[in-house]
Amino acid sequence: MGAIKDIVDLAKDLESRAKDRQDMELIHKIQALSLSLQSHEVEVVERDIRLMEENAELKRQLSELQSEEIRIHRLIEFRRGKRTSEKWDSFCPKCHLPAGGNRAPGGSPQVYCSGNCGWVVYPPMMLEAILAELS
Ligand SMILES: [Zn+2]
Repeated sequence: MGAIKDIVDLAKDLESRAKDRQDMELIHKIQALSLSLQSHEVEVVERDIRLMEENAELKRQLSELQSEEIRIHRLIEFRRGKRTSEKWDSFCPKCHLPAGGNRAPGGSPQVYCSGNCGWVVYPPMMLEAILAELS
């Protein structure tokens, strides 16, 4: 509010130097506009504070909703939270997209990234058996 206060102070200074009624009327208009601006600025600052508090609360809620328990097991990332219906599910430890499991062409189990980042691991058992180890 420094600039507006400066304008108010300058208007007071001008008031002491006013030469006639016209000068006084202009100065009073400037003072009225400055006071109006000052009151508007107070409202804006109060609104900013309210919005910052609201934003912080929304961030806290979002963080709570997105929070997940994370484990790395047999080189695979497992997550459990709201988006997995509170059940363990497999994810790529490299890019964190869901991971899928199947058998590689030779028949050995493999777990791979569904996002095609190239991550793949060949665990000694199928993904379902690894998921069962987590429970
Ligand atoms: Zn990936």
